[in-house]
Amino acid sequence: MPNRPMTEAFQASPRARRGPGRAHGHARRGGPSRRAFLGCCGAAAAAGLFTGLGGFAGEARAAAPWATECRPALPAAAAELLQRTWLGLAVDQLWDMHCHLLGNGDSGSGCYLHPSLTSGFDIVERARRRVILDAACVDPEGASIDEAYVRRLRELADGFPPGARWLLFAFEQAHDDTGGVHRERTTVHVPDRYAAGVAAATPQRFAWVASIHPYRPDARAALQQARRDGAVAVKWLPSSMNIDLRDPRSLAFGEAASGLGLPLIVHCGEEKAVPGAQRDDLVNPLHVRALLERGVRVIVAHCASLGQAADLDRPSAPDVPAFDLFARLMDERAFEGRLFGDISAVFQRNRRPAVWQALLERSHEGRWQGRLLHGSDYPLPGLKWLTSLPRLRAAGLLAEADESLLAELREHNPLLFDLALKRCLRRGEARLGPEVFATRRHFGAAA
Ligand SMILES: [Zn+2]
Repeated sequence: MPNRPMTEAFQASPRARRGPGRAHGHARRGGPSRRAFLGCCGAAAAAGLFTGLGGFAGEARAAAPWATECRPALPAAAAELLQRTWLGLAVDQLWDMHCHLLGNGDSGSGCYLHPSLTSGFDIVERARRRVILDAACVDPEGASIDEAYVRRLRELADGFPPGARWLLFAFEQAHDDTGGVHRERTTVHVPDRYAAGVAAATPQRFAWVASIHPYRPDARAALQQARRDGAVAVKWLPSSMNIDLRDPRSLAFGEAASGLGLPLIVHCGEEKAVPGAQRDDLVNPLHVRALLERGVRVIVAHCASLGQAADLDRPSAPDVPAFDLFARLMDERAFEGRLFGDISAVFQRNRRPAVWQALLERSHEGRWQGRLLHGSDYPLPGLKWLTSLPRLRAAGLLAEADESLLAELREHNPLLFDLALKRCLRRGEARLGPEVFATRRHFGAAA
């Protein structure tokens, strides 16, 4: 059955139709489609994972993006690369602060995937085979996608020295403006209790991040429960979940979260891997300002490194790179100690070299120092076609000798690859320093 696009759905509400800010070009242009549901990196991953379709269809299929092979031992040539990777890093401070959980609920997890991701052909079976083959080299018969996903993640984590940990993201459902759940407009749902449970089962490797819609009537109670259950932050994806960061309910929730020691991780900037994303007007980096002015600690996912957003500080509100708006906020002295950016996904092929260069140069400079946080956006590092090593080399950021080593490492462990790549990147003397990877200190609520 064809899906009702999310924009159409939310246009049932006059407030949503009016919108808090004007949508930018892509939102206006974007036609409804199955892909339009896919608001986030997690959803993008789901697209790649569970359909093999999407904007990159041909390329993705050609490159067999999930064809990471089950090779237990690292190649000898990778040893030197990994030595360099770890040099100067404190492993017990290394928390990958952007890691997605995905599942279809077949283990009783409560995880959910919209039928649009599985309709039209025998996608569940395809996904089952694909994920499990990729995950753990086990017999796919009778196994669970939920469990295979976690098993694979644990195995990859075990490629790291003890002490390194991953923050697993819950993923909230779409809600309407009155705080009601819109299940049929929810692409992906990963309940808080599931993320908490997976983290609790392997505490030496995992902690978890709650995802709670601020319009929910029980939002405050859910936040307190998440804190009791050990959540170390709250993740929002405004365009997918329909969250206006400037709404009084969002501001009050953000203040409450900060009061409990939980920063907000907020996706800003466009999602181009899945064109036609809905409510793009809600992921304008400048919307974060209202939270910052109330003292809320905010980590902007991906440093808003993708797409355009309206410059609401100017009367004509022209579309400018979303990253520039994020950078503007980062340069405001008042927001030091409150505003941070995660570097997950920023070196993917769909980002501009100018963004890569700016991040390398500014990570060590002035007001940005200590405010960029390592995250992998797992499982995206496993999608080979999404990170182009030749493109990074062409931009002058990657040595030729490292390219083949990284490519080989990626075959064995996409998470190690992601870390090693970020440690290899250089622009002159500028690189991502050890403090970018010492992320634990940002999550004070952790035990
Ligand atoms: Zn993500």
